[in-house]
Amino acid sequence: MKLIGAHVSAAGGVFNAPVNAEKIGANAFALFTKNQRQWVAKPLEADVIAAFKARCSQLEFNANAILPHDSYLINLGAPEAEKLEKSRAAFIDEMSRCKQLGLHLLNFHPGSHLKKISEKECLKLIAESINLAHEQVSDVVAVIENTAGQGSTLGWQFEHLAEIIDQVKDKTRVGVCIDTCHTFAAGYDLRTETATDRTFAEFDDVVGMQYLRGMHLNDSKGDLGSHLDRHHSLGEGAIGWDCFRYIMQDDRFNHMPLILETINPDIWHQEIAILRDFAAQK
Ligand SMILES: [Zn+2]
Ligand SMILES: [Zn+2]
Repeated sequence: MKLIGAHVSAAGGVFNAPVNAEKIGANAFALFTKNQRQWVAKPLEADVIAAFKARCSQLEFNANAILPHDSYLINLGAPEAEKLEKSRAAFIDEMSRCKQLGLHLLNFHPGSHLKKISEKECLKLIAESINLAHEQVSDVVAVIENTAGQGSTLGWQFEHLAEIIDQVKDKTRVGVCIDTCHTFAAGYDLRTETATDRTFAEFDDVVGMQYLRGMHLNDSKGDLGSHLDRHHSLGEGAIGWDCFRYIMQDDRFNHMPLILETINPDIWHQEIAILRDFAAQK
């Protein structure tokens, strides 16, 4: 069973996200549980939590089909103590919001070394940040997203993801979200079925498919190895359709949120329909 959706708007309240997802024919979705450009948000109120849970159950979205995304401001590998502390506090808050909403996953970008510390030190800080969050909040899985490797962000090489996971104490609560645009921009080819197969074989080798907890399905405006984080609509970028057909027809991608973050929300319902067709053609 493929769980396909998009990163939908939660404007007006998190309880609007499942409604927006249902409108585009999704059976999965991603959302921000607070304003992604602000450090602090007011706590979720009991009636908001209740409304979110009621709508999710009404519209048949299970927690395993929902992939919340944390704030863009958070850097769990920040070299400066003050920024690191702020990031860790904000991440713990995000994690507890997920738990309050009955969600099991929290998708986040690993972090940046800002050229002030080594990659190794930065990856260690990220792993420590995850361990600290695990101590504070139970149940929620920290889902590390691979990046395009823009600037000094880490997590673009599969080895970075493996190195973080290796230092996380509770392996049952750490996972990975693979973004196809980021993967391709990081230098892993996805343009043909063979290339896609090879890339996931490498991922399995270095990280392990058992850690895959979700996907972001995006085509890429940037070229292979460009390190540009610029999404495109499916089939319109440098990746093309083969990769998305491959994912839809492979059972290893079942039962996890497969989330569009493509640039034109007006055609999300069409993109989802095409993906479902691929899955049905298997
Ligand atoms: Zn993404
Ligand atoms: Zn991106």
